[in-house]
Amino acid sequence: MYIKTLSKSGEPLELTLDELEVFSTCPCCGAEVPQPDFWENVKNDPDFDSYTTEAYCARCSSLSVAERHILTKCRSVKSEAEHIGEQLLRGEMTCSEVCQHLRELGEALDAAV
Ligand SMILES: [Zn+2]
Repeated sequence: MYIKTLSKSGEPLELTLDELEVFSTCPCCGAEVPQPDFWENVKNDPDFDSYTTEAYCARCSSLSVAERHILTKCRSVKSEAEHIGEQLLRGEMTCSEVCQHLRELGEALDAAV
């Protein structure tokens, strides 16, 4: 098996699957995590599921479960806060609505921690 893609010069390029470099995203901090054993895992583990298997980056691997949980929450809050800010930029929310949503975000964080 192989995939077809285009080279930088636009020429068609065929790559065998094991030539492909596979990466995942750390579920905790969002860092890119190389998966050098991906094809080995696919070959050797019939239950291996690339959609549900999570791999932490080197930094997050050394954290406790509680620390990973907090970091995951930080990412989520950051993403929600950016979304709220974007709505202000697009004129879909007023300043007071934005403040209200940010307060609710803080309250949700308090409840989760
Ligand atoms: Zn990480």
